[in-house]
Amino acid sequence: TSGLMKGKRGLIMGVANNRSIAWGIAKACADAGAELALTYQGDALKKRVEPLAAELGAIVAGHCDVTDLDTIDQVFAEIESKFGKIDFVVHAIAFSDKDELTGRYVETSRENFNRTMDISVFSLTAIAKRAEPLMNEGGSILTLTYYGAEKVMPHYNVMGVAKAALEASVRYLAVDLGGKGIRVNAISAGPIKTLAASGIGDFRYILKWNEYNSPLKRTVTIEQVGGSALYLLSDLSQGVTGEIHHVDSGYHTVGMKAVDAPDI
Ligand code: NAD
Repeated sequence: TSGLMKGKRGLIMGVANNRSIAWGIAKACADAGAELALTYQGDALKKRVEPLAAELGAIVAGHCDVTDLDTIDQVFAEIESKFGKIDFVVHAIAFSDKDELTGRYVETSRENFNRTMDISVFSLTAIAKRAEPLMNEGGSILTLTYYGAEKVMPHYNVMGVAKAALEASVRYLAVDLGGKGIRVNAISAGPIKTLAASGIGDFRYILKWNEYNSPLKRTVTIEQVGGSALYLLSDLSQGVTGEIHHVDSGYHTVGMKAVDAPDI
């Protein structure tokens, strides 16, 4: 892949640490020759993101909390002043109250429902709106989703409802931005142990279940998601938009528990 992203510049939002999916994507893009800008959410993460950005020779485009639209505006102003035009944006942002990522979906509070939708769904639209005028023809926007959008997964609850809305947003944005040659896609990643995932109830059980029951008999890594992201962010996927691409060891294709799966 060396040279695949040469001359391309992109913004990656959602790196929290070196286990973040966004970090796997950032590394793959940097290895392929892209110039990157990263954002961080709050001072606690600034300390983690700055050295990671330095490792890739990336710039830090500042603090962004998507619940505060001014901070999104500031990031895009910074991007415009440092990069001018950009070729791609990665949105790897989601949040829901951990107390509601366990038990029954029917217990979801209105406050957490709205907050989950705002941070995990509306933010993609807010970012796409600001990215559009800065993007070169052929640009690519990528977000991250999960199978819980399509089927009921234990404990995923309101986040599953949010991911379903996020996937619909990908299709609507693909049409809105398609006229300018900008593509919008999502990767539906299998479960990976990250900071965000640690908030989901019984997450270790979910990981094991996926390992035993996916066609490839293993869970996915952030490097594997990075590889597929590279395809969706590069010119290799020029004919692809509005797509939800599963990077889940094939888990979404199976209809029931594998006959040889051990008990967990
Ligand atoms: P992570 O904790 O490393 O990343 C989540 C990021 O969201 C963090 O960088 C955090 O700062 C950011 N974020 C949360 N609230 C924010 C806000 N208000 N403003 C700005 N940023 C905010 O975890 P991850 O698993 O790498 O998550 C990245 C994406 O991948 C999420 O959309 C997640 O739903 C999705 N995903 C994760 C898995 C998994 O199993 N880990 C599977 C499929 C999809």
